[in-house]
Amino acid sequence: MATSEFDIIKKYFSPSNNRSDVVLNGGDDCAIVTPPKNSQLAVTTDTLVSGVHFPPETSACDIAYKSLAVNFSDLAAMGATPAWVSLAITLPEVDAQWLDEFSKQFKTILDEMNVALIGGDTTNGPLSITINAIGFLQDGKSMQRSAAKVGDKVFVTGSLGDAAVGLRCVQNKVNDDALSDCITRLNRPEARNEFAQSLLDFCDCAIDVSDGLLADLGHVLSASHCGARLDLSKIHLSDALQHYFKCYCENKIDWSLIVAHGDDYELCFTVAETDVSRVYELADKQGLRVSCIGEITKNKALVCMDERGQEVDGFAEGYLHFS
Ligand SMILES: [Mg+2]
Repeated sequence: MATSEFDIIKKYFSPSNNRSDVVLNGGDDCAIVTPPKNSQLAVTTDTLVSGVHFPPETSACDIAYKSLAVNFSDLAAMGATPAWVSLAITLPEVDAQWLDEFSKQFKTILDEMNVALIGGDTTNGPLSITINAIGFLQDGKSMQRSAAKVGDKVFVTGSLGDAAVGLRCVQNKVNDDALSDCITRLNRPEARNEFAQSLLDFCDCAIDVSDGLLADLGHVLSASHCGARLDLSKIHLSDALQHYFKCYCENKIDWSLIVAHGDDYELCFTVAETDVSRVYELADKQGLRVSCIGEITKNKALVCMDERGQEVDGFAEGYLHFS
């Protein structure tokens, strides 16, 4: 069984695919890579700590999946195409079965995404995974938080709130097979890279929803010096989430679960009203749901209306009064 750092890297985390832009991969102090002409690099890093970012009982495969997805989601938020990652992993012990499962899932995802693992480091300590992900932006095109304009329409992909309910399930606060999709959403978020890249043609402003819609849209509004008015009833709710509200919330929608919890990893973006139809066309083509949930306003406040058309307040105060 591999025991030293070098043995672990060699056995489990050796380079898995050969992109022609990787000049030197392993066997030296650094990897050497060649970015494409006329491109900029988008660089992000995220750490997942056991017991903080995922429950300690989470499987090795799910941890591999999530640790890559959260980093790819940040690249998606900028419109970047993922290319290379490096991995720093801290392990409490050398568990061959855990390492085998983790590294196989990790490599499978990288192969699917045509991403190369270009560096690795292992240390001993409480389980934590840090990934550094690098993507390409062609011709200086990107989506940034500061680019929302008054009158823009606010969109969000997919559905929100599922991961929040998934967390309740894995914490044994609810036990219901009908909510299994929510656990999948918690453990295996899907970064929206393909859709984000196609948005770049006409969209300048996006963020990924990692800390909850209100918190993340709040970052956009602060950076863009504007506000937004949202119609929360326009947010798509999955069947599982509707089942949860029906059976565990007396058929009432708990909006805080939908907009003030994290781990959704959907994309929130703004486009000019004239480009709204292009958004739906793109989403249709890719089989992805998108919802127009509101509008950017000059008034620097984040106003939320509920399904009865009444202004929601009294929850997530910190988010609502961000300005
Ligand atoms: Mg982000």
